Amino acid sequence: MTSQKAVYLDCNATTPLEPEARATLLRYLDLEIGNAASHTHEYGAAASKAVQRARQEVSQVAGRGPEEVIFTSGATESNNLAILGLANYGIRSNKKHIVTTSIEHKSVLEPIRQLEKRGFEVSRVPPDGAGRVDPAAVAAEVRSDTLLVSVMHANNETGVIQPVEEISQKLPRDVFFHVDAAQGFCKELAALLNPRIDMISVSAHKVYGPKGVGALIANREAQRSITPRQFGGGQERGLRPGTVPVPLIAAMGTACSVTTANQESWRQRCEQLGRSFHQLLLRFGFSPIVDSAYVLPNTLLVAHEYLTSDVVIMSLRESIAISTGSACTSNSDETSHVLKAMGLSDQLAEKVVRFSWCHFTEDDSVEALKCSLQGLPR
Ligand code: PMP
Repeated sequence: MTSQKAVYLDCNATTPLEPEARATLLRYLDLEIGNAASHTHEYGAAASKAVQRARQEVSQVAGRGPEEVIFTSGATESNNLAILGLANYGIRSNKKHIVTTSIEHKSVLEPIRQLEKRGFEVSRVPPDGAGRVDPAAVAAEVRSDTLLVSVMHANNETGVIQPVEEISQKLPRDVFFHVDAAQGFCKELAALLNPRIDMISVSAHKVYGPKGVGALIANREAQRSITPRQFGGGQERGLRPGTVPVPLIAAMGTACSVTTANQESWRQRCEQLGRSFHQLLLRFGFSPIVDSAYVLPNTLLVAHEYLTSDVVIMSLRESIAISTGSACTSNSDETSHVLKAMGLSDQLAEKVVRFSWCHFTEDDSVEALKCSLQGLPR
């Protein structure tokens, strides 16, 4: 984040790279050039060791074993592998019903829509007005032919943490439970340590690692039931074949262990910044959209009294980088499906902007935001 550039307050879209993760990335790009599957020389051995270490570092975050980690290109691919990968098993075992929520990321909603086109039935549980789903409502949708329940950990647009723990307690044993934890992994851990979760999707670039790498953490039962989406040299237990990107994976491992180790102090830093941003935004005519009790400590979703999000974003653009919510659908002008599901009117949804920061965000960003807010149209 250089001083000439706008202050970056869009960390839910992607985070800056953690310096230790960057050092690992560069080391494996420059020095350790081996293919992790080459068994005949020391280059391959060093690469394989790095991947093994990263597997340990990623799995430890969720209290799992390294054999549960399948490296992918990011949470989108992990979600697709978890959902589409179970389709054949569902068809074979006559379980063709899926329960999810209406506020999932598109990379969960869209593969589920694909299965719907192939004859699966889908129950989509809406959230309450504060953006949280009711665990009892999720459990109530489960039937004897339910294959999979997929509920996200923390919502990327609102920052609202979903009741994953409570949901897991209500699910019958024979239903797969998948959690898209792209936003909360390494940050909000308690719920993810729950062994009832069969599959967890993770993305490195949300936890200060590089873009283009992620993982599906899947237990033995889930791995046995998933049909791969691609075929090749058998890497990643045959579930995601292809030469593994050693530098990205090694850097992801470092990012996960550093983020987890600093979880508490980085959270406090985010909370401290959050209080300042919150007070400032209230003074300049913004109101929060969701109750902060369940929100990630780095996220504020607000709406201006009368300015639309386009006007706010464009007015602040030179000095503050923010967004309306999901970067993955930012090329569409549609109202956010999350805000719609929460029951916001189109008029209110049009005014919603998201501020999301991290421990890297500097103190002077509060002053920078204040100066920029003073320039908003009146
Ligand atoms: N799920 C959630 C909740 C996300 O926030 C994102 C990224 N916006 C994804 C999945 C997709 O992750 P990736 O960019 O690694 O494909």
